[in-house]
Amino acid sequence: MGLFKKKNYIRINPNREEDPNKPNRKPHVPDNMWSQCPNCKKAIYSKDLGEEKICQNCGYCFRIGAWERLKLIADEGSFIEADAALASLDPIAFPDYLEKIERLREKTGLNEAIVTGYGKIDNQAVLIGVMDTSFIMGSMGTVVGEKITRLFEKATDKGLPVILFTASGGARMQEGIFSLMQMAKVSAAVKKHSVSGGLYITVLTDPTTGGVTASFAMEGDIILAEPQALIGFAGRRVIEQTIKQELPENFQKAEFLLKHGFIDKIVPRNELRTVLSLLLRMHPSKKVGAAD
Ligand SMILES: [Zn+2]
Repeated sequence: MGLFKKKNYIRINPNREEDPNKPNRKPHVPDNMWSQCPNCKKAIYSKDLGEEKICQNCGYCFRIGAWERLKLIADEGSFIEADAALASLDPIAFPDYLEKIERLREKTGLNEAIVTGYGKIDNQAVLIGVMDTSFIMGSMGTVVGEKITRLFEKATDKGLPVILFTASGGARMQEGIFSLMQMAKVSAAVKKHSVSGGLYITVLTDPTTGGVTASFAMEGDIILAEPQALIGFAGRRVIEQTIKQELPENFQKAEFLLKHGFIDKIVPRNELRTVLSLLLRMHPSKKVGAAD
């Protein structure tokens, strides 16, 4: 009772000055000071993630952008981007598709879901492609397919190895069948590169799924993965509902795939550059007169 009874307030003058000598009792927590690990759900002090963005608790490698990745992998100042201006059309007249792309270009500074180009790792020439999930979940449309195909064609022509960092939700539904077509197109270019004696290394990062897994992600001569990365074709729920069975806890995690022979090695992000450099050194280009 008396819930709505007026109480006596002490009136506070809204215009009064804050006493500058009074200690601020509310702790000030800046934005981005803490990050939650998507894998182990633990709160991590952002500074502890380091430049490589690795969870100190479970080893999960946080998603990073294409340019952040290139900074970690390629020799400083060595990367030259290719086909930067390639832009998607709207092949199936999908509602609002071009507007969405325009908005993402402004927001992410990327033109598409992959950055490709020429670079060096420990002074060894290589063609590199890095997918970026901040652009429509790294989905593979015609531009992504075309950029990867051109990368392989250039690699075959110059006798250079290719390293692809995959991160993708799969095919881009806004481009329908033209998106699915890229799987076959890229695979043909990969095969030609392989026949010419070229080395192809894939690094599967979180998440690598759908049509990307079903094509070039799994076509590497050497397949590496980052710890705890999600790698799969169809989603977990879809499979469970189809086969009417419960799947193991770590199903579609890099560790599970390694155990079952789908990938060759799990490499922590802070060791990737060293491992890639070593692999390149162990597999010199077979083509005579290959560019250095
Ligand atoms: Zn973690």
